[in-house]
Amino acid sequence: MTASSSPKIASDSAGDRSSPSVSNFIRQVIDADNASGKHGGKVITRFPPEPNGYLHIGHAKSICLNFGLAKDYGGVCHLRFDDTNPVKEDIEYEDSIKEMVEWLGFSFNDKLFYASDYFDTLYAFAQHFIERGLAYVDSQSADEMRVNRGTLTEPGRNSPFRDRSVAENLRLFDEMKRGLHADGAHILRLKIDMASPNINLRDPAIYRIRHTEHHRTGAKWCVYPMYDYTHCISDALERITHSLCTLEFEAHRPLYDWVLERLVESGKLPAPNPQQIEFARLNLSYTVMSKRKLLELVEKGYVDGWDDPRFWTLAGLRRRGFTPASIRLFAERAGVSKAHQWIDMGDLERALRDDLDAVASRAMAVLDPIRVVIENYPEGQFEPCSAPVHPHDESRGKRDFKFAREVFIEREDFMENPVKGFFRLVPGGEVRLRHAFIIKCERIEKDAAGNVIAIYATYDPATKSGTGGRNVKGAIHWVSKLDGIQAEVRLYDRLFNVENPDAGEGDYKDYLNPNSLKIVNAWLEPSLANAKVDESWQFERNGYFTADRKLSRPGALVFNRATTLKDGWKPT
Ligand code: ATP
Ligand code: MG
Repeated sequence: MTASSSPKIASDSAGDRSSPSVSNFIRQVIDADNASGKHGGKVITRFPPEPNGYLHIGHAKSICLNFGLAKDYGGVCHLRFDDTNPVKEDIEYEDSIKEMVEWLGFSFNDKLFYASDYFDTLYAFAQHFIERGLAYVDSQSADEMRVNRGTLTEPGRNSPFRDRSVAENLRLFDEMKRGLHADGAHILRLKIDMASPNINLRDPAIYRIRHTEHHRTGAKWCVYPMYDYTHCISDALERITHSLCTLEFEAHRPLYDWVLERLVESGKLPAPNPQQIEFARLNLSYTVMSKRKLLELVEKGYVDGWDDPRFWTLAGLRRRGFTPASIRLFAERAGVSKAHQWIDMGDLERALRDDLDAVASRAMAVLDPIRVVIENYPEGQFEPCSAPVHPHDESRGKRDFKFAREVFIEREDFMENPVKGFFRLVPGGEVRLRHAFIIKCERIEKDAAGNVIAIYATYDPATKSGTGGRNVKGAIHWVSKLDGIQAEVRLYDRLFNVENPDAGEGDYKDYLNPNSLKIVNAWLEPSLANAKVDESWQFERNGYFTADRKLSRPGALVFNRATTLKDGWKPT
């Protein structure tokens, strides 16, 4: 399975950010519910991350969908931490999740919830299931339980503990809670049907013993509720109307409904229940999405932390220079579907270009500098030049820089033996320095190894930009040594060499791209001296760049290239 065999998403709605979202099967359900008055016209969604990792671009899709639908329908979206597993969860993850949801442009204000806040209720409901004969304490070993669970083709077998009395179950469950039993000694299971064709209904476990402190409830509990049981009840307690989740939960939906229907039946919860609706996960080419793998890449140092700019975590994308608007645009274009979705990394970059073209300030930066000496321009003088901050918005004013005797141009803008159709600088040829003069290459200087180390040129004083003089075919960017600033610039490539690192013969790490980071010393025009970390710039002809929020220091900015200007990426 590769991204290239998958349907492309249309990019032609560029910039059309105010258009009402296209209809989809989830909207159709909501529209029908609103028409029938099922939830009294309310729309309450939730985004339910487990605080066991950093959010990635796949989560962004879910966030944009849940918060976006709530916004469109005049409803609300809850941020709920599904913090039922004390072993893997951490406050660091929680903080980063809140930060990234807000960064994406969504607010949860007073709508911040924690599954752990429902632990008392969840426990009381579990007792209620026991009292109704719908749950029992199982004391089989993990191995016995696995064997007795059956397979996709064979039914499971009832546990020998399945018919324990209500009183015994209540006593054991209480002992579990009081810490009298070791991890794994007992679990609490719903009594549904060990022969069900749906394995999720074969007496699913709903409580297990874990003698571990929880980052929010401390040492209060040593029994913790399982995800499936917790999730549906949390949704119902918050009066969620539409509970959107990814497709792998489709087979869990009967359990979701089973639990809630019984609690409504006995008046523990009000009707109607939330409706679970599944949609396809987002997969992005050249990435892996599994949290376990992301954690491994971080812990083993294949990337430089969760916010490495090559990473598709939201923290990484932000640091790289992706804007919240570009990610929302990308998520909107990706749409929602029931079919597995592979989206090309190029689509994410296109969304950024489409967002930034109209807004990013322009600047010139030379990433691979070669020195040009203008021999007929006197030393110690300069010629003031300027260019618009944005070519289509005069109101944003001009940026100033100085043409002088020594300037830098891009090494690739010079060719000693030019190929046909090369209109930039060549020996004896002319080129325009953007926003300045036409120069002519008179001769070049090489080092012992034959590399060009300097170009000697003359300029034509009658050709200053904007004065109506003659023109030539090529125009290149430049920075003058007199007022330019030097800075480290980081250029990124895909972290993996293949579209689907999970699909290969070997381990996904075998496909890491060893050349995913290139660091260069660039010359930048002076307006970039005051760049702020959250600003995006278009470096003319070179792409979109942002000052790195982690590495930049006052007077020593480090820039990241978020993307090139064109979609020219090819696997190396
Ligand atoms: P885990 O395997 O740990 O459950 P997860 O990626 O599902 O990993 P969660 O914290 O449970 O992580 O995810 C929060 C929400 O984001 C869930 O509703 C989940 O369905 C959704 N989500 C996660 N990955 C994607 C994805 N690739 N595309 C769309 N939604 C996703
Ligand atoms: Mg999950």
